[in-house]
Amino acid sequence: MTGDTPGSQSALREANQRRVLRAVRGAGSLTQAQIARATGLSAATVSNIVRQLRDNGAVVVAPTSSGGRRAQAVSLARDTGLAVGVHVTATHLRAAICDMAYEVLAEEQIPYQVGQSTERGLRRAEWLVSTMLRQARVDRTKIKGVGVALPGPIDAGSGHVLEGTVLANWQGVDVADELADRVGLPVEVTGDANAAALGELIWGAGRDSTELAYLKLSSGVGAALVINGEVYQGSGGLAGEFGHITVNDQGRICRCGNRGCLETVVGGPYLLDLLPRRPDETPPTLDRLIAAALGGDLGSRRVIADAGRAVGSAAAMLCNLLNPQRLIVGGELADAGELLLDPIQEMLTRQTLPRAAELVEVVLAELGDWSAARGALATVVRSAASLDDEAQLA
Ligand SMILES: [Zn+2]
Repeated sequence: MTGDTPGSQSALREANQRRVLRAVRGAGSLTQAQIARATGLSAATVSNIVRQLRDNGAVVVAPTSSGGRRAQAVSLARDTGLAVGVHVTATHLRAAICDMAYEVLAEEQIPYQVGQSTERGLRRAEWLVSTMLRQARVDRTKIKGVGVALPGPIDAGSGHVLEGTVLANWQGVDVADELADRVGLPVEVTGDANAAALGELIWGAGRDSTELAYLKLSSGVGAALVINGEVYQGSGGLAGEFGHITVNDQGRICRCGNRGCLETVVGGPYLLDLLPRRPDETPPTLDRLIAAALGGDLGSRRVIADAGRAVGSAAAMLCNLLNPQRLIVGGELADAGELLLDPIQEMLTRQTLPRAAELVEVVLAELGDWSAARGALATVVRSAASLDDEAQLA
């Protein structure tokens, strides 16, 4: 305890230092002018705070140019630790390593089959992480933790995978505990849509924004909401269950038990079901549907256009409620590009408050299959950094 009251000068200075660190951490690197804009602090205050943070080793300052003028780029110090991120999907295990300044040092993936046991999945994840750490010659003592992104829903309190996940075998498993025992490092679990939004916010299509919605359009359909630069979890970690908005109360029964959810209209298996097929034909895949649409096949184009309109109509509700700067469209279906984005945009324009529709930019995710693994990294960096803030500011 310093004995300072919350309103005292040093409490104010600490609060301002936290604001600066949060802004830099959110963006990766900012000039002092950008920090001033992002935090609302004066240029002189920012300059003082940056000097203090540089002196205690929290940030590094390097010359850069901004709009043709010389400036100082402020970024987090990178030798303060490392983060590991893992993403488990129905088909792959992906892992990545980065430092505390979000510099990615390594990325690897191996196949995984959704039907395989959790035991095998955890063993494979442990092997992948250990192999990467060895290959990257990483000092394990520098690792702050392992972030794991899993297909949701995830219980925010326990970190358990809940009923309704595509990884049915992982349901009810305490992945954080089990993996922590195996790798000997602290493990933090998050839903993969939330992780993907964070990955895009830091490295991808969400850079330079603080308010965004990320849509995951794949076999499952989900969303994540970023409010004021932070992923919004809701009271139990279930915010953003976009796929389970009812769009047709006479529609098909959803895996969640409800009827006519958006996912039963635009989820991968439901889209593939719309295609005409001879009994002897091999079942189609989303990849092939998208390739056919891009190749000009009218039926496939129609499937994607209708999916885009259904997504756009549901996304219009999101935009009316949240007024985001960006709507990032990710997941396998995003490979359809403009064929998907145009109908989404059309419905947003039609059903969102005109000013909110003008303000939102509809863009494709930039990190492809890697956004959630990256986001898992970022959750570790953010948690470690907020603990470090306390230490550095003490
Ligand atoms: Zn549902």
